[in-house]
Amino acid sequence: MATYQKILVAVDLSSESKLVLQRAMLLAGQDADLHVVYVQEPMDNVYVGIVPQSAAFSGLGDLEAQLGEELKEKLTALGEKFGLPHDHLHILHGSPANEIHRFAKEQGSELIVIGTHGQRGLQLLLGSTANSVLHGARCDVLSVRIGATL
Ligand code: AMP
Repeated sequence: MATYQKILVAVDLSSESKLVLQRAMLLAGQDADLHVVYVQEPMDNVYVGIVPQSAAFSGLGDLEAQLGEELKEKLTALGEKFGLPHDHLHILHGSPANEIHRFAKEQGSELIVIGTHGQRGLQLLLGSTANSVLHGARCDVLSVRIGATL
C-alpha cells in the first residue's frame, strides 16, 4: 500500500515538470489519486506596476484566453505522457501558492509535490513559489530538487 493516497503535483509546465511528475508517480501506488495542477496568473497581476493601466491592457483578456488554451494543451500532453486521466489535470487561476493551497485543501491532499531549484542569496530572501507553497501548506510537501549544483 502506498504511503500517500491523495497527491497533488504542481507543475510550471517547463521541461522540468516531467521530472517532478516522475518523482510523484514513484510515490503513488496503483490506487493513489494523483492530480496535476498548473496555476495561470492573471496578466494584469504580472504587469501591474510595469506598464501603466491604459491602452496597454486592452485586449489582454483575449491574449489571456489564448494563452490559457496553449497551457491546457501543454498540460494535456504532459498528462497523456504519464497516462493520467483528463479530469485529473487542472488549470487554476490566481496566485500559484494560494491556489495550490486552496486546491490541496479542497481535495484533501496528503502530499504536495513541487520542484525547487535550491535558491540561494537574494532569490532565497525574496522567496519563490516553492517557498510559499512549503510555508502555507497544511499537509506534507515534497520538493524535488532540480538541477542542483553543490
Ligand atoms: P519556482 O519557485 O517558481 O522556481 O517554482 C518551483 C516549483 O513551484 C515548480 O517546479 C512547480 O512545482 C511550482 N510552480 C511554480 N509556478 C507554478 C505555477 N504557475 N503553477 C503550478 N505550480 C507552479
